[in-house]
Amino acid sequence: MATDEQLTAEVKELALAAGADLVGVASIDRFDSAPADVHPRSVFSKMQSVIALGCRMVRGALKTIEEGNFWQAYNCDSYQYLNEVLAPHMLRKIVLFLEDRGYTSVPFHNPFCSGVGRPVREGGTHPDGIISLRMVGCAAGLGELGLCKVFLTPKFGPRQRMFAVLTDAELAPDPLLEEHVCDNCGSCIKGCPAGAIPRERTIEWQIGERTFSHADVDFGKCVHFHQGWDPRYSPFVDAESSRENPPAYFRFLDRRFRHHSICGARGCVRACMDHLEKTGKIEKQYRTPMIEGAQWVMDDLPA
Ligand code: SF4
Ligand code: SF4
Repeated sequence: MATDEQLTAEVKELALAAGADLVGVASIDRFDSAPADVHPRSVFSKMQSVIALGCRMVRGALKTIEEGNFWQAYNCDSYQYLNEVLAPHMLRKIVLFLEDRGYTSVPFHNPFCSGVGRPVREGGTHPDGIISLRMVGCAAGLGELGLCKVFLTPKFGPRQRMFAVLTDAELAPDPLLEEHVCDNCGSCIKGCPAGAIPRERTIEWQIGERTFSHADVDFGKCVHFHQGWDPRYSPFVDAESSRENPPAYFRFLDRRFRHHSICGARGCVRACMDHLEKTGKIEKQYRTPMIEGAQWVMDDLPA
């Protein structure tokens, strides 16, 4: 069936006006190899196209964590604002635009709860199925997967969050990205305080003609550092801190921004960005480098 080129162009224009920095379209056939539980049709059975939307994280918010100075901008901008303010607004605009033209469309935010409950019919998938927004980005031609599983684009490297609209409109798909952004440099491995990123790409996804792959990142190791529990990489914990007795600053971040990221993606985003920017692998250059000299690390707490 013919795709609607005019509608596709209008949706993209609207997405950019509504706050997206990147927009691409994947057709249903790009997900032919996806397991049923992570297939976009496990969310909306009549979907024909996925609109992938990338919103950049503010570079300065990562820079101030790199300097060891200021954590609130990152937790506000890159979590609370993008996930809970910009994305719902942007997704709703696109969904309603399509709805007004007779297409049923589903906003897919950045959810953190999946695989719950039980299928409502025999042979069905679990409710609230998860689709990988990184894979959606790949399928829509916006980028590829880095070694450390982060989604990389030629424009921003690892510095965006992805969202999606699933629609029964037959939009014109974008070609898959042919080039590689990731050059397997290993900066993410070196920069990760948790040692959570293996060297080998052992996980593969087939999308259309292209195989995407990444290392099997250990998120169990990551979360301890991501949430700032290791005193060498977190200025906020002391000898009294525990999960039962979290530092007041963690409670503030959780209350104000509903998240606390203290690692600030030191390896998987900041070190990767630094490498891609310094080697000219992303389109834009910036006056202030992301990493200047050795990255900070503190002494362990005194015994
Ligand atoms: S730091 Fe290097 S190896 Fe890791 S994802 Fe980025 S480009 Fe790939
Ligand atoms: S968030 Fe931090 S700890 Fe987790 S993988 Fe990235 S660099 Fe490693």
